[in-house]
Amino acid sequence: MISLHGLTKEFPGGVRAVDALDLEIADGEFFALLGPSGCGKTTLLRTIAGLETPTSGSVTIGSADVTALPPGRRDVAMVFQDYALFPHMDVTANIAYPLRIKKVPRAEREDKAAATAARLSLSELLARRPGQLSGGQQQRVALARAIACHPTVFLFDEPLSNLDARMRLEARTFLKRLQRELAVTTVFVTHDQSEALAMADRIAVMSAGRIMQVGTPSEVFQRPSSTFVASFIGSTPMNLLPGVVEDGALRVAGAVLPLPEGLAEGEEIVYGLRPEYMDLSRSAREDAFAGRVSVVENLGTSFLVTLEVGTRTRTRTGTGEHLVQAVVPEDAEPAPGAAAWAVPR
Ligand code: ADP
Ligand code: MG
Repeated sequence: MISLHGLTKEFPGGVRAVDALDLEIADGEFFALLGPSGCGKTTLLRTIAGLETPTSGSVTIGSADVTALPPGRRDVAMVFQDYALFPHMDVTANIAYPLRIKKVPRAEREDKAAATAARLSLSELLARRPGQLSGGQQQRVALARAIACHPTVFLFDEPLSNLDARMRLEARTFLKRLQRELAVTTVFVTHDQSEALAMADRIAVMSAGRIMQVGTPSEVFQRPSSTFVASFIGSTPMNLLPGVVEDGALRVAGAVLPLPEGLAEGEEIVYGLRPEYMDLSRSAREDAFAGRVSVVENLGTSFLVTLEVGTRTRTRTGTGEHLVQAVVPEDAEPAPGAAAWAVPR
């Protein structure tokens, strides 16, 4: 288990990369830190590893406060974005390196390196140097090096980001299976929301050194706690439109929608609905966003349709977007320019 209390890392010049952060990661959990570039993910991971000294706050691993311990005494293994393999060492020596540092005898560390390599299908490559390996193979060597010394925590900093799209999907499944088998607490940093949703038991969504929301993939996807989280998670951006309660109904961009519980007359809200939960109708209805099809994008098994909506709702926070998006099945491809009504499902 990892506990962070009031963790802050301020760099010279006043950048607060990590800002008074509290977090509990459970034993054996696959935990993703997700957020845009520059939000402090790497700094947070390096602080857990002991590669950065926090300005204030504490890091606890298991029952030990490790805040003052150097990286080598924290029993964590980190895999970096660029793998950080030693170019002059062969695969065996790279995998065995942390064991060498721990002064494990040569025969034993070579046995362990070979066994770990076999597990990651690297047995044929033991004598090669990193320069003679593909990106995917280098990534597996970096993983093997992390696994070989049986750490209590894995720290991964965007380990899949240098792989091409197809390799990335394979590596995702592979890594998740491996983590399940080893049941080692894992903190996985990514800026890719689909990676976090696919792999993690829980996700912390970060912005500007702070955690915006922590939850399971379905919690952050289905019940985002802010418009930041809502727009960051999802393969198509969520529709976010200003709305107002008037005459006992919710009015959003010309649509008259059923009133959710707990809203009072006159109240202004931001209405959020994912394009995947929007149907398209070709005839007028009051409970829909009336508009004209402006763009149709082919997603393979469906289409992403962008409607230009005629009516906007004005609230104190603004007039809002006049675009509404819907994902429709491939047999319902609408023509650009056609009138259409987007119906919340
Ligand atoms: P992420 O990994 O989410 O992209 P980082 O943790 O790398 O974010 O960076 C967070 C913020 O801290 C950024 O504003 C970055 O410029 C700043 N930062 C990171 N490392 C240093 C450093 N060594 N010195 C000064 N500022 C840094
Ligand atoms: Mg980073």
